[in-house]
Amino acid sequence: MTARSPHATTQIQGGPELPQRRLLATSIPGPRSKDLLARKTSAVAGGVGISVPVFAVAAGGGVIVDVDGNSLIDLGSGIAVTTVGNAAPEVVAAVSAQAASFTHTCFMITGYEGYVAVAETLNRLTPGDHDKRTALFNSGSEAVENAIKIARAHTGRQAVVAFDHAYHGRTNLTMALTAKAHPYKNGFGPFAPEVYRAPLSYPYRDGGLSGAEAARRAITMIEKQVGAANLAAIIIEPIQGEGGFIVPAEGFLPALSRWAADNGVVFIADEVQTGFARTGAMFASDHEGLVPDLVATAKGIAGGLPLSAVTGRAEIMDAVHVGGLGGTYGGNPVAVAAALASLDLFEHGGLVERAQQIGAILREQLDALRDGDPRVGDVRGRGAMVAIELVDPATGDPDAALTARIAAYAHARGVVLLTAGTFGNVIRFLPPLSIGDDLLREGLGVVAEALETV
Ligand SMILES: *Cc1c(COP(=O)(O)O)cnc(C)c1O
Repeated sequence: MTARSPHATTQIQGGPELPQRRLLATSIPGPRSKDLLARKTSAVAGGVGISVPVFAVAAGGGVIVDVDGNSLIDLGSGIAVTTVGNAAPEVVAAVSAQAASFTHTCFMITGYEGYVAVAETLNRLTPGDHDKRTALFNSGSEAVENAIKIARAHTGRQAVVAFDHAYHGRTNLTMALTAKAHPYKNGFGPFAPEVYRAPLSYPYRDGGLSGAEAARRAITMIEKQVGAANLAAIIIEPIQGEGGFIVPAEGFLPALSRWAADNGVVFIADEVQTGFARTGAMFASDHEGLVPDLVATAKGIAGGLPLSAVTGRAEIMDAVHVGGLGGTYGGNPVAVAAALASLDLFEHGGLVERAQQIGAILREQLDALRDGDPRVGDVRGRGAMVAIELVDPATGDPDAALTARIAAYAHARGVVLLTAGTFGNVIRFLPPLSIGDDLLREGLGVVAEALETV
């Protein structure tokens, strides 16, 4: 029985006008969040977890305000989504205007300009100046699935190679591509066939293999165990997201991409987490001049509205028969309006530079932590996508328990902090690019305090 109106909590205005401060009005979770958590437990499927136990009413700049009036520093951007800021005024205006005009026609039934304009913009912004095409979908998983469909249609081959520690989503094909069993795959098989896993370059844990050596190791595995002639695509995150912000050694990605080109294999960059200014470049591929055949994007693309895309070489994208790609909601007009506003901010709002500035602060503070504390084994990432890997200093083994305690400490003190990594021992920093320097430093200060205390 639903006892309450859906609007039992007061609406307050979000966006950058929210007071930019950390404020603990109650303990976390406060009484209203506790009440909502109880309702959640009896109404929402148990498989859907909440990692920071509060319920939001507004967000913007660098804060999330909860139902109890607590103001939390946001170091996660809802997993790299609100890169332009939460309730960014440009996005709010575009969404409101579009919603008032029409909310849906289905692009496959009746076209509208916004979809085409997003495709044109992505074709221009993604790496490489070759002729490109774009198709729009709803989620990162859906973009990845469609990239694989397109690569198979183009090559007439079936096999796909993904990498150790990869995360590509939660649908059936993307679960197969994802490496980590718990929580993503346990009990959910059988998985899609013709998916193979190759070793990654993981500088902190692979004994210092160079990029070229790590690429050679992966290519040998692929040639011997899969066979280039059977291989439709290689898919890789240029910096792994859920896998722990692993930045491969320099040269690894270009070597794989060259090998793919030489063997008629489609090289797919999964830039769902790394895309759109996040890493201090428009795309993470840009750091090494990598030009993928196909790029999958989502997360940051539309300021929080669900939208994803596959962008790539015209001859590959156009290999699919008419009607072979699409979906009821793909490229929804409201999401597309939000994307156009966001893409304009990425291109003209100085956000690439802002990600670099945030990256400099993250590196300065986190490098200092590592220098003073042997449990901080590694600091890595690019731009506003940086992580620390926590280890037992005696053995170098991953310390997932310490990681969980630090996250819980930060949450209780009003900092939204995300963990990651195959071994659960990575804390990742993905602040919205609209966060102020002081708030960012304060959030990092709480993490330093957590390391001292727990
Ligand atoms: C989040 C993510 C996905 C899946 O995106 P969803 O929108 O959650 O389906 C795929 N690839 C990467 C790299 C991601 O970070």
